[in-house]
Amino acid sequence: MAEKVGVYLDKTSLGQYLNLDDLAEKVQKKWKKLCTSVKIVDILSGDEGINAIQEDLKAETVDSVCIGGTSPRVDWEFLDFGSKVPQERVNLRELCIWAYQDPEGNEANQEQDPPEQLQAMALDYLNMGIAKLEKIEAPEPEIVESVKSVLVQGGGWSGLNSALSIAKAGYSVILVEKENELGGYARKLYKSFPLAYPYTQSQYPGIDELVQQVKNQDKITIYTSTRLESFSGQPGDFTASLKTSSGEEELQVGAMVVATGWEEQDKQYLEPLGYGKNKDVVTMLQFEEMAKKGEVVRPSDGKKPENVAFVLGFRDTLDQLSQEEQEQIEKKQQEKEAAKNDEDAEEEEEETFQVNKTYKHLPYTSEITSLNALKQAGYVREFLPQSKAFIIYEHMTIPGVNEHYYKAAQDDTGIMMTKGEVESITASNDNKLLISARDTLIADNIEVEADMVVLPTGLVPTTALDPILQLSYRQGPSFPELELFDGFSDSNYICFPYETRRTGIYAAGSVHQPMTLAKSEVDAQGAALKAIQCLESVNRGMSVHPRSGDLSYPKFNFVRCTQCRRCTVECPFGALEEDEEGTPKPNIARCRRCGTCMGACPERVISFDNYGVGQISSMITQVSVPDEIEEGGPRILVLACENDAYPAMDMAAQRGNKWSPYVRIIPVRCLGSVNTIWIADAMGKGFDGALLLGCKYGDDYQCHFVKGSELCEGRMQNIGETLDRLGVELERVQQEEVAIDEYENIPNIINNFVDKILELGPNPFKGF
Ligand code: SF4
Ligand code: SF4
Repeated sequence: MAEKVGVYLDKTSLGQYLNLDDLAEKVQKKWKKLCTSVKIVDILSGDEGINAIQEDLKAETVDSVCIGGTSPRVDWEFLDFGSKVPQERVNLRELCIWAYQDPEGNEANQEQDPPEQLQAMALDYLNMGIAKLEKIEAPEPEIVESVKSVLVQGGGWSGLNSALSIAKAGYSVILVEKENELGGYARKLYKSFPLAYPYTQSQYPGIDELVQQVKNQDKITIYTSTRLESFSGQPGDFTASLKTSSGEEELQVGAMVVATGWEEQDKQYLEPLGYGKNKDVVTMLQFEEMAKKGEVVRPSDGKKPENVAFVLGFRDTLDQLSQEEQEQIEKKQQEKEAAKNDEDAEEEEEETFQVNKTYKHLPYTSEITSLNALKQAGYVREFLPQSKAFIIYEHMTIPGVNEHYYKAAQDDTGIMMTKGEVESITASNDNKLLISARDTLIADNIEVEADMVVLPTGLVPTTALDPILQLSYRQGPSFPELELFDGFSDSNYICFPYETRRTGIYAAGSVHQPMTLAKSEVDAQGAALKAIQCLESVNRGMSVHPRSGDLSYPKFNFVRCTQCRRCTVECPFGALEEDEEGTPKPNIARCRRCGTCMGACPERVISFDNYGVGQISSMITQVSVPDEIEEGGPRILVLACENDAYPAMDMAAQRGNKWSPYVRIIPVRCLGSVNTIWIADAMGKGFDGALLLGCKYGDDYQCHFVKGSELCEGRMQNIGETLDRLGVELERVQQEEVAIDEYENIPNIINNFVDKILELGPNPFKGF
């Protein structure tokens, strides 16, 4: 607990706009005992300021530091006094001075005294910062002795690359492959998309050489024909049980890279396009296997095809068709049904594989499908130089450097490409397949006659099909299901691409998202680095991510725990197990320090050394709330997620945006960490409203802690009941979604809410 707080005010960033002498005097008077040093420094983030603070710390006149100046998001590299010194950066420049909008519409005049509201706001923020320091302690890390070894699941391209990267960095690797040899799907490839300049040619991927490199590495222990049976423990100290061909084995590892790749999507979804009914309709996977054997022939008769069509775009529901088209299709289907019942007719009739209502495929196509079509069209040209390849695509997805590959295919006169949606594939009696497509680039329907049709192979992540991870976690053996991503493992697509929702377990390659070998190699290296970061963080007691380096962790006062299980259920990262009675059992190294458990706990028995329910409550009580709205305006508490909303506010202010001075902003680790008591505290204190700013909802979330906004909204019901009991209208509390790049909306969101509160009038609790 801070006992000697040093308060330092930065003259450079504040002096022109605030009366710093007045602030210093008021702070000293209010916190006579606690604030043992209050100084106004010319340049706080320069030598003068840093030396002044360090001298006070050295002389032990202060034990904690409150800095009033720029946003904590700037100059942090200079104003760092070590983890043992509690520090609070009071953001007086961005969120006070720069954001200040005069309620009367007056222009700021540096020659005159600062506006009363601005000066009052600055004093509130300083008092809040000091109150926070009064309640916090420098966190003592909880060290987990880390095993310097990583388990890599999957001995394919990504797993091999990951294992090699980890071993080269000096760490041991346990490489587990379920098949009896290493290489995975890359071994089955005839050729890969380009891996090197000039990015125009398919090429041999070099899988045998990669396997050999891995086999030559002393630090890699290879287990083939082996499966992971269970995985328990926490980062730095996991226990992996393996089922090998010769029995069972148990190993200690510090982290896991999951590189188990993909499996082929159920092919029944291709049946409406003729797959399974006509042998000459094959998948890209089958076509690759054929090329690997050194031939391109029609499966039906072994003849060399003159024309091969690759179909990348087709209709998947009737909904998109006109009424007339739908009726025609239904009529055809009825006729087909009737024909099926007539054996003679069945022999005579051409078979039409009309796309029908029941047909479904993955609702997107990846770059892999487009690149595969280009590559395999190249096989046609390589094996059968006189033959032609047709690619009918709805979307040709070729990002990045592979544009050169696409252009090279365009330059081949034997490869024709056209945009269009395939409507039907008709098998004729002369062993041809007629492909009808519409919405083409030439704005007309086309028909292409081919000897073979190649359909995309849908890639489904292995984690969606098998309990690959075998986690012994309360929250289940695998990653939580993410409908949007069709089972692809993910923690946060935008900010943390390698991380899964289980700390210490990282995804690499196509289990992560459909990827080329080139991208998988980079992805594998990224996952390897994250696994190493994990080993090297937990043995220092640090959070791995996203609050990398955070030494705090949730502490439980079990004496008051009612075993309600809310914390264990809501923890997004499976960090909390529980005993039979329901008492939470924290696994600190799995924890990401989000505070969701703290927000969930109705008994308020969870807190961090530097972030707690009592600490935020103390900050709230430091705000001076005018007795009458007419006297000094309303007061509105803003709890802002420090990952998106708070930086968005900073950016808004830095770009000259301004908003009402009636708000007082407190950053929170995540809206999931908001405990409803804070709202009750604010209303009890006489605040007129509370605005909660968090991330966007949904599976395509950007929440660093998965679903903080949703959890917070769920708790609003409790807030409603509390406010009801207090006789306060629920409209006084509002939650808004803010993405980090939506900073231009910040003034509107805040000012609209302030207007709403002004309309509602004062909080009935005011003055009590
Ligand atoms: S802080 Fe977050 S990750 Fe850690 S136990 Fe609490 S809810 Fe789970
Ligand atoms: S939410 Fe709080 S009271 Fe409930 S089990 Fe967790 S720690 Fe105990």
